[in-house]
Amino acid sequence: MPVDSFVFYRTFLPSLCGLDDPVVLSFDNTAFLNAYAEDETGMPQHFIHSGNFFSRPHSTKPELRTKERVLALQEQLINAKTAGFITLNVPVSCEIKTPIWEYARDIRVGALEQSLRAAMWARERTVRPDLLYAGFEVGTYSDALYIFDKASNANFTRLSAGFGLFSRFSKFRAEDRLQQFEVLAAYNRLLHEHGDMRFHASGGSALNVLELLAYSNVSSADGSSAVLAGLAYGSVLTTSGRLIRANKLEEWKCECGFCASKSQRDALTALKCSPEARVTHNIHVIRSAEARINEALKDNTIAELTEKRLNEYDKKELWKCYALVREQKPGM
Ligand SMILES: [Zn+2]
Repeated sequence: MPVDSFVFYRTFLPSLCGLDDPVVLSFDNTAFLNAYAEDETGMPQHFIHSGNFFSRPHSTKPELRTKERVLALQEQLINAKTAGFITLNVPVSCEIKTPIWEYARDIRVGALEQSLRAAMWARERTVRPDLLYAGFEVGTYSDALYIFDKASNANFTRLSAGFGLFSRFSKFRAEDRLQQFEVLAAYNRLLHEHGDMRFHASGGSALNVLELLAYSNVSSADGSSAVLAGLAYGSVLTTSGRLIRANKLEEWKCECGFCASKSQRDALTALKCSPEARVTHNIHVIRSAEARINEALKDNTIAELTEKRLNEYDKKELWKCYALVREQKPGM
């Protein structure tokens, strides 16, 4: 079944807890609980992932990221606003300078099977199996086909994969993007045979690929780039999906809900001076894209919307990603 809605979960930030758009949390995010400890009414819809094996503290203390600890802490976060949680995705290696696809197949498959066992283990124990997404760290078409098929045969209808890790290195950036959509192409091939499935793409979801993700029947995605870009790099998103340093802007015209409430000059000053303003603008741009995507899914015009975005952004590798998925999409 093709996906009929798409939700983007952006990184949670305590200083923006006044915004109630969907957020993603790590399994051990106590700041989230603290932010809403006294009043839960403004708590946003959220998705809980199983933590990044490649960043602190888990990169230096892997014992903090076991399937037992992940599930126990996820269950402390689960409430009526939880949309899903991802089981432990076991990496091929914690050494993160070599991309997954460069490892030998038996090592890659070994890690994927361990992830599937972790998902089965969690399904037997969790109080909310209905919210469970089986999580994988997978980087090739054939591995994805193998493990998604196996998971589907084990009656998992909600799957998730982590993406974008190797795009941090410029020499792997283009290939990492292609491998992401190879994996999603494999998922689409599986959708030919199986009915009602959901897929959460964790990471690898910058603004310029949101349409492509929805086109690939991804039902939800999470990402940090809009928040990180505004905070750490001082950048603002343009509607075409590019990031520009705010301190280089000389004039500014933006129709987003945040900027449109101010004069052009005040909006520009706010973007230059305030990290929160930049993040708020970036989030507004992403939410507008998400709304357009959901309209297109309803009208069955997601292919046209995706092509429009790819024309605006004009990157050869994204067109290749589009072609990869188009070949495997159900009903094609
Ligand atoms: Zn704006």
